[in-house]
Amino acid sequence: MHVRSSISAVLLTAVVLARPLAAQSVADRYRADANRIIDAALKDSTAWNRLGEMTEKFGNRLSGTPAPEQTIDWVIAKMKADGLQNVRGERVMVPVWVRGAESAQLVSPRVQNMPMLGLGGSIATPPGGVTADVFVVSSFSELTAKASQAAGKIVLFDVPFTSYGETVQYRARGAVAAAQAGAVAALVRSVTPFSMRTPHTGGMFYDSTVRRIPTAAITVEDAQMLHRMQDRGERIRVKLLMSAHTLPDAPSRNVMGEIVGSEKPDEVVVFGGHIDSWDVGRGAMDDGGGVVVAWEAVKLLQRLGLKPRRTIRVVGWTNEENGGRGGQGYRDAHKADIDKHMLAIESDGGVFKPQGFSFSGSDAALEIVKQIATLLDRIEAGAIVKGGAGSDVAPINALGVPGLGLNVDGTKYFWYHHTEADTIEKLDAREMALCVATMAVMAYVVADMPEPLPRATATP
Ligand SMILES: [Zn+2]
Repeated sequence: MHVRSSISAVLLTAVVLARPLAAQSVADRYRADANRIIDAALKDSTAWNRLGEMTEKFGNRLSGTPAPEQTIDWVIAKMKADGLQNVRGERVMVPVWVRGAESAQLVSPRVQNMPMLGLGGSIATPPGGVTADVFVVSSFSELTAKASQAAGKIVLFDVPFTSYGETVQYRARGAVAAAQAGAVAALVRSVTPFSMRTPHTGGMFYDSTVRRIPTAAITVEDAQMLHRMQDRGERIRVKLLMSAHTLPDAPSRNVMGEIVGSEKPDEVVVFGGHIDSWDVGRGAMDDGGGVVVAWEAVKLLQRLGLKPRRTIRVVGWTNEENGGRGGQGYRDAHKADIDKHMLAIESDGGVFKPQGFSFSGSDAALEIVKQIATLLDRIEAGAIVKGGAGSDVAPINALGVPGLGLNVDGTKYFWYHHTEADTIEKLDAREMALCVATMAVMAYVVADMPEPLPRATATP
């Protein structure tokens, strides 16, 4: 290299460095860090291994049972061993629903046991069970139109899966609608686009003005069969037996650990998933994976020596599935410092191949998040859409904290959701590593960039 050109190269470098930071986009400033994070994440399968260990050591983790509390103790010990700071559990009282013994049997036109799962929150049948004729409908409006045929019967909602948000209404509100029509119990076709005769549980709600009746999910295959029997004019009778009940609230905890910020330790980016699950399967994708990818993201930043200006806090919220008390408890415990929360990110849609995030907040924040997300384009995880961020962060979103929900390839999530089949083999180590990278890049840049992410006005 000639002396002259080397001098001009030095001058050119000086000019570039002197360019005011504001003139550089946030993506330009963090491109090198983001690439380091992504490269390191992809060489690492710790996330998959740790999720396997957690879900196989403790199994499923329904609120109010010993398993989630043992899991939380284990997470606290491991986070401390990882060198995270301010590792702790914050106490929250949670509802305690007990499934008890349960069964569903077709008794006419022939005898056959039907795989079933009571819905979370349901009451029991009388001790001897309920045996009644079945009336099958395809929608709430069909039930309303034919309400006189439902009285004294077990109503079955045989509703094909369209989207989770739409179809889950039958699981959530089916018992109320059936009771209004005079039914003695409500069955619902499992909320899933694909079935191997596996029932799917999930939450349901009573209405204080309507009589409570027991309610359960049966499989897609059996719901369709009963519907065809009805169409053929056959008399269908089912015996439903459930001993579900609710006990007084019990203590649980939101579990958390941090990388404390170097310049603004009181300002926080919070991210994670929910530590509880339904009482079936092992809660690997719903939502052990969400907790573990955020946890591994923090460990990855630590390992790379990336210490952000602000604090990054990883949280495993408790009781998302049957109460939402963890998200509400977090909001209440942090009311005084809610203005110091820059961003809340939740992963609760499975840890399959990441696609980006859904965003809830102001348009000004959306623009910045979109710029940061371009750093994830190289792994096809940079798509930002408007939408909800997740049920555990919704309570602080409502107070103006911008929210992001990790979006992943959702093709298979609802095949396994809330079933005995929610186990780790369906998850892929590389896809989980991509989720770690996606969570780490977004959390790190927002925690480190000099200017705070603009807030939204609180929704009352
Ligand atoms: Zn979940």
